[in-house]
Amino acid sequence: MKLLVAVKRVVDFNVKVRVKADKSGVETANVKMSMNPFDEIAVEEAVRMKEAGVASEIVAVSLGVAQCQETIRTALAMGADRGILVQTDAELQPLAVAKLLKAVIEKEQPKLVILGKQAIDDDCNQTGQMLAALLGWAQGTFASKVKVEGEQLLVTREVDGGLETVRLKLPAVVTTDLRLNEPRYASLPNIMKAKKKPIDTLTPEALGVDVTPRLVTLKVEEPPKRQAGKKVGSVQELLDKLRNEARVI
Ligand code: AMP
Repeated sequence: MKLLVAVKRVVDFNVKVRVKADKSGVETANVKMSMNPFDEIAVEEAVRMKEAGVASEIVAVSLGVAQCQETIRTALAMGADRGILVQTDAELQPLAVAKLLKAVIEKEQPKLVILGKQAIDDDCNQTGQMLAALLGWAQGTFASKVKVEGEQLLVTREVDGGLETVRLKLPAVVTTDLRLNEPRYASLPNIMKAKKKPIDTLTPEALGVDVTPRLVTLKVEEPPKRQAGKKVGSVQELLDKLRNEARVI
């Protein structure tokens, strides 16, 4: 079974994100970039499927600027077999990403596509669902467990207040939640080996996809600064402040 995994290059999760002075977005110049953490989980799951003999080939796909190659190399070092970069400097919104992935999937014909449940930069949580809809495939989102059973897939989903297990017919789209697995670190020999693995480069034009943004970002703002805490002298004072200052009781 061939697997395709989508890996997005995002601002590293340890970086304190700063809003640009003109409030048009967040600062990405000279900022450490890494693979979206949910996509690391997606790659790990694919690699485990290959190790278990369920998957035969893993293709890692990234869409965006030329440096997305580095993100693909990380996936290759974790165990993916080859990469595809759809290179563009244009801003890519989830619908455009889903359309591009669909075009790649039509060429590659994988049985299973694994994405992160959301990208930590835009927090959209849309691409997997849009992709499944465009392909007309089954979808198992927020997966905390995935098991292949012949031509079917059992996906345990993290839903409010518990877990839900769904049975999907392959081909299908899965999006990963945090508890699906703990991604491995790539070893140095595997990082070296990854340098020799092939990466094909395509463009939205070659795939015949219009990536024009459909949404306009009006303004990006920092969250309000938290006020310093105060020490109160008595329970009575606390109740008074909660009632009359915070107005929460
Ligand atoms: P989002 O809908 O933007 O929150 O993204 C959900 C998932 O879609 C991510 O975790 C990735 O697996 C995939 N994805 C989104 N944008 C890209 C991109 N530019 N390149 C590769 N994968 C992407």
